[in-house]
Amino acid sequence: PNQPDMIKLNTNENPYPPAPGVAEVLKNTETDALRLYPDPAAKDLVHAIAAEYGLLDEQVFVGVGSDDVLAMSFLTFFNSGKPILFPNVTYSFYDVWADLYRIPYVTCALDDQMMIKKEDYFKENGGIVIPNPNAPTGVYEPLETFEEILQKNTDVVVIVDEAYVDFADGPSARTLIEKYPNLLVVQTFSKSRSMAGMRIGYAMGNKELIKALNDVKYSFNSYTMSRVALLCGVEAVNDKAYFEEHVKKICETREKTKKALAALGFSFPDSQSNFIFAAHKSMPAKEIFAALKARNIFVRYFNKPGIDNYLRITIGTDEQMQALEAALREILLQA
Ligand code: PMP
Repeated sequence: PNQPDMIKLNTNENPYPPAPGVAEVLKNTETDALRLYPDPAAKDLVHAIAAEYGLLDEQVFVGVGSDDVLAMSFLTFFNSGKPILFPNVTYSFYDVWADLYRIPYVTCALDDQMMIKKEDYFKENGGIVIPNPNAPTGVYEPLETFEEILQKNTDVVVIVDEAYVDFADGPSARTLIEKYPNLLVVQTFSKSRSMAGMRIGYAMGNKELIKALNDVKYSFNSYTMSRVALLCGVEAVNDKAYFEEHVKKICETREKTKKALAALGFSFPDSQSNFIFAAHKSMPAKEIFAALKARNIFVRYFNKPGIDNYLRITIGTDEQMQALEAALREILLQA
């Protein structure tokens, strides 16, 4: 959808603009410089991310959104011929990349709390990928779960996809990188840094994993990141105060929205992300989705067995969430 006045809560974008330094870069960019190729190693952006998280530059890889970084990681690390493992309810791109690259895979069912069952990941496999918090559930798994999975899988790469971790109360798996050379942590500028349109994602891990990713990248497309994206990315990382303030704001709005949705008869796993995955006690999700759409409010509905009675609702501004609540109240009253 792309309509004026719509309330867009369907792709987990950030409702706030990027850090002011990003606008400055865009205003001041010399178009003449666009004649020249960008730095293929993306050194300045890699360095800004590494410095922010206390890593070496050799421990950071950047790509065109985390989709690019994840797709490159599947290609680089998941080629043993053995099935890779991921949850049965998870990010919808994993099985698409696996099919594209002819990687066999096995999905592991979530429990009735929508948590992963770590034992499912203790069997022989060709690699593991799990988002934390998971999407579309929003559920955050404690790091101990990942430590156990990493300890039981030392001969394969374990990817933790942390697209939403900045909205979680718990820590990033980045803190485990020194201890587990088989861990790759993937993050994005699309959510917590308000830059989905700029396409910046990154992976953090052991130097050898990062070198392997770069080797594959240089065999595929050396100039993945535009000059503009590289400059804007550095500004976004360096403005920590802006980042923290806006993440906090979204988490506050999320907690208010949880209360409002519960009062309207919705139930949901406790989200630690910038969206809520909610089912209503009496009205089917598909009908609520259509009624909201008719009011120009877009949320995400998955027509998939097991999750087809849930709506994934992105956290917008307080005003947008109040408009959503008002619309839901009206829709549920009419039913
Ligand atoms: N991982 C997960 C779990 C996601 O939900 C998304 C966003 N849809 C991505 C990765 C990719 O985001 P991006 O390419 O914008 O970084």
